[in-house]
Amino acid sequence: MDGPCRRISQFVLKVHSRCDLSCDHCYVYQHADQTWRGRPARMPPATVQGAARRIAEHAREHGLPVVHVVLHGGEPLLLGAAGLREALAELRTTITPWARLDLRMQTNGVLLDDELCRLFVEYDVRVGVSFDGDRVANDRHRVFAHGGSSHDHVRRALALLRRPEYRTSYAGILCTIDVRNDPDRVYEALLAENPPRVDLLLPHATWDHPPQRPGPEPTPYAHWLGRLHRRWVDDGRPMSIRMFEALRPGGGGTEAFGLAPADVLVIEADGAWEQVDSLKTAYHGAAGTGFDVFDHSVDEVARHPGVAVRQDGVDGLCATCRACPVVDRCGGGLYAHRWRTGSDFDNPSVYCADLLRLIDTVDAYPPPTPPAPRQRTAAGSMPREWSATSPVDELLDDLATGPGSTSTLALLAATQFSITRALLAACRDRFGSTAAWELLVHLDQAAPDAVLAVLEHPFVRPGLVHRLDSSALPGLGAAVDPLPALAIAAALRAGVPAALRVPVRAGAITLPTLGNLVLPGLGERAEVTVRPGEVQVRSGSVEQTVLLDPLAPPSTGWLPTRDVSVPGGRLLLEDGDPYRDCYGQPVEPRLEVPAARALGRTLTDAWRVVRRDVPAHAAALDGGLRAVVALAPDPARPLRSATARHAFGAVAVTPHPDPETMAVLLVHEWQHAKLGAVLDLYDLVEPGQGTRIRVPWRPDPRPPEGVLQGVYAHLAVTQVWRSRAATDHPDASAHAAHFLAWTRDGVDALLASRSLTAAGERFVSQLRHALEETHVGSR
Ligand code: SF4
Ligand code: SF4
Repeated sequence: MDGPCRRISQFVLKVHSRCDLSCDHCYVYQHADQTWRGRPARMPPATVQGAARRIAEHAREHGLPVVHVVLHGGEPLLLGAAGLREALAELRTTITPWARLDLRMQTNGVLLDDELCRLFVEYDVRVGVSFDGDRVANDRHRVFAHGGSSHDHVRRALALLRRPEYRTSYAGILCTIDVRNDPDRVYEALLAENPPRVDLLLPHATWDHPPQRPGPEPTPYAHWLGRLHRRWVDDGRPMSIRMFEALRPGGGGTEAFGLAPADVLVIEADGAWEQVDSLKTAYHGAAGTGFDVFDHSVDEVARHPGVAVRQDGVDGLCATCRACPVVDRCGGGLYAHRWRTGSDFDNPSVYCADLLRLIDTVDAYPPPTPPAPRQRTAAGSMPREWSATSPVDELLDDLATGPGSTSTLALLAATQFSITRALLAACRDRFGSTAAWELLVHLDQAAPDAVLAVLEHPFVRPGLVHRLDSSALPGLGAAVDPLPALAIAAALRAGVPAALRVPVRAGAITLPTLGNLVLPGLGERAEVTVRPGEVQVRSGSVEQTVLLDPLAPPSTGWLPTRDVSVPGGRLLLEDGDPYRDCYGQPVEPRLEVPAARALGRTLTDAWRVVRRDVPAHAAALDGGLRAVVALAPDPARPLRSATARHAFGAVAVTPHPDPETMAVLLVHEWQHAKLGAVLDLYDLVEPGQGTRIRVPWRPDPRPPEGVLQGVYAHLAVTQVWRSRAATDHPDASAHAAHFLAWTRDGVDALLASRSLTAAGERFVSQLRHALEETHVGSR
């Protein structure tokens, strides 16, 4: 083997591969890898010896000042006091001549007693205990095989370690979170054990097996951790919580975060060298290297491709992570959490949207040293300081210019896509693994582009939200399972034959991004069989094969989607998907051909106008606007437009024939869409406020988020009219002055309301600067 070799300073020694608990979230026994079944229960003394020699050899050859060895399992205490003494003595005797040896252990604590504690003090072993919080939280997963609680056993172990004579061996607590637990109770339970350090772990998950996301909250892990973080900061950070400390700018990272090269190897009970343990969650054998301590040195293992790729810092990450403004702190998340069959580890973390939001939450608090004085908002909860150099600032500052750059738009689109996938997984968790889910999983591996094309459709998310909470989007009627239609649409795009039972809505089967099948006599469900270019439908007495010809007359029952060419690509005229009815105002039914053509022409011309007037805003439209929905006419309000928070990538407009007017509507609404995507990630407004603010563009006082949306949209409209005013466009100067005055007043009222978070204040202050600039990407 050749190539440069790296120094490894951390080693995990699996001294016992079985366990006396039976936790259902355990990656050793319950996840994809099952290699434990073929290994000896106890690490034999000769294997301990071989491991110690390899570590000592590496320390000597590389002049390592310190080596960290963690005794691990399964459950290491199952080795017993005598077995542990033998192993600890071997490690100290063999390694200490060459490097300082930092000995640690990770245990479930069940078997911990005085004799073991004395042994750990004697050999200077620092012991971490796995404990998930209060009784409900801990026993949700951490139970014996007979289902009995481990809570009292673990608390007894923690009490032992707190005793003054053993306290030096108390390293801290490892807590795996579950968003169904109460974060306050978990926090209080952890604090009560007075640990020197707490490690919070996200449950292991991959894109193949996404984490549980109960409820419609798109980033429940960020939300849950954010609550715990706030409590911790408000209490004056009474214990070290490594996740929060590591995520701060310059926080140094951990195995789960940051760009530091991987510096850890595992030695299994049979002497096999393995990569990090968490990989066991990806697939059977994922952590394997094919090497062992008897025949292979640490240097040889460090050159293994799976280890080497993790030395490449940002270059070893996927394109989305490389473009991410917080990549230096997130580092793409835990390596194992990036796994997806097909693209392997070349993905962002399955927790991507949560991580982005969590980093923002951490940034919203002052650095721990020196302690900065915290101002309180009217709500009395959220400090207002904002780190001046946070990469999240850069994203918000970029958007506050008005259009935002193409890389920022790409990141917003990527996080919105992550949210859609997370909602899909939440449906699977809530309603079980159906044939439609299985088909989507299969297609995701066999034809990922086809699945991507369907899932990026703006109205997929409203369907999933509606399925999870039918009260979230009133007006959509009874919730039906949207997965069969998504899977069939993806199969058709992929040219993969498939058959599923698909719910019928309002007499139609909608295949998102493709079109509607409208056949008289359809019942509530239909048996849909697809082959390339055709669909066969059976429902009650209806049995029909439909050729998916885009030029087929409507009489065939197939109503294909229509799109138009715009300078940025193709724009869908969405008038068939039932979930487009999520704007809180009536939408047009399927447009007649002349009306569709007229709207298409107007949109094409309007896009050109945006490019002419404000090219930077046109680039922002190119970066994410995929569909336009026609709103139903209302004589009282002939000029209307709308955006829906759950439908990123689409705007709704009244089909106004004038491209100059339509251009303003598009720019205006796209601002709302971008800001909605930002608000999925960051709190810009203090939550739970009853504040109402008077603004010039509405007769009624508005909530802060409404004003924020208003000023952001009006900033862009001001920029359009300013640009037009530089030409001989009639009335442009008056319009520019009008929108400038509105936006200024709105911004000032918003800032004076004290209802924004620190990030929100920064965003609106930057927006105020952008407002006073004369041009934005203008001719
Ligand atoms: S205590 Fe640890 S090793 Fe044992 S079952 Fe639980 S998570 Fe797995
Ligand atoms: S937040 Fe998402 S895109 Fe950014 S580095 Fe982390 S996983 Fe990658």
